Amino acid sequence: MSFDECVYALSNHEICILPTETVYGLACSALSVEAILKVYKLKGRPSTNPLIVHVLDHYSAEEISVTNGFSRKLAYAFWPGPLTLILPKKKCVPSEITAGLNSVAVRSPSHPTFRKILNEVKQPLAAPSANPSNKISPTNCKDAVTAFGMNCPPFLDGGQCEIGIESTVIDLTAHSPSILRIGPISKSAIEEVLGTEIQSKTGQKEKKIDTEKPSVSPGLGLKHYAPSTPLYLYTDIEKMLNSNTLIRDDILILPSPNVMIQSHKKNFTLFYLSSVGNPKEITKNFFRILNEADSLKKERIHASLFPCSDHLLLAVNDRLRRAASKCF
Ligand code: AMP
Ligand code: MG
Repeated sequence: MSFDECVYALSNHEICILPTETVYGLACSALSVEAILKVYKLKGRPSTNPLIVHVLDHYSAEEISVTNGFSRKLAYAFWPGPLTLILPKKKCVPSEITAGLNSVAVRSPSHPTFRKILNEVKQPLAAPSANPSNKISPTNCKDAVTAFGMNCPPFLDGGQCEIGIESTVIDLTAHSPSILRIGPISKSAIEEVLGTEIQSKTGQKEKKIDTEKPSVSPGLGLKHYAPSTPLYLYTDIEKMLNSNTLIRDDILILPSPNVMIQSHKKNFTLFYLSSVGNPKEITKNFFRILNEADSLKKERIHASLFPCSDHLLLAVNDRLRRAASKCF
């Protein structure tokens, strides 16, 4: 669709797929209940799982949420960019978008196309990842379109997403801030800006998800980002390469071609997340590669966790854990 058609659709309670710097979003007016319900329906997303509202800046955030000193500092430091702030909501925000919570998630995206659209439609836009609920997030337009098949809404192609994983989510509704979803903005970078220690409630130890109650944070669902092919996850790469669960024809996802594969193990389909193991490149390629591996419809995909020295790789590890069907 053209830029103008997109603006027209969004202004008229319709939905469309838009690029952001994190992952592609299924966008709609955050003030239109009709449009919000279309997004939930198309994604098959439980109504208990709230959406992120996208705005141009902290001034626009003030129109829909009760901002505070923390939000001002964080917006100044990281917006536009991949940081979502949870703040008390204002009345104009429909409860359908917040899963009935009194808080709303707000973010200012940096993708130029998304910003141009926000400028034109002059209203906040919800934009959860453009994929059926719990499936792999799309980081290019083709993956988003394929994910919805025949039901695909109109889309704007903005190329490959620069970051490739979802925003960091921080809750600013309580006395002390806490991280709900780890992502591209690190805990230490946030602590430096706020000048205070923050907690992490990223839910990795949660055993089950209660779909009856609004989730503290949808990204906390233990099962998320999952390919259709079973994903076997190992604590480190050596464990993966030496595992007797590997069977001829399986798919192996590796950090880079620098990993030595023994000759008798060459009957695998290999995918590399980067050329030399650079964390930014790995993060940018992660969902695209997982999608590509999944599309081969083989029996198993194997991947391993990254040594946790880098905050981006920590965030990729978080997605890997939630995508895995078996951990070794
Ligand atoms: P996604 O749309 O898939 O990127 O996921 C949405 C993210 O929004 C989740 O990870 C949540 O952390 C967050 N979220 C949205 N609204 C709220 C809210 N009111 N309270 C807490 N988290 C929220
Ligand atoms: Mg999502």
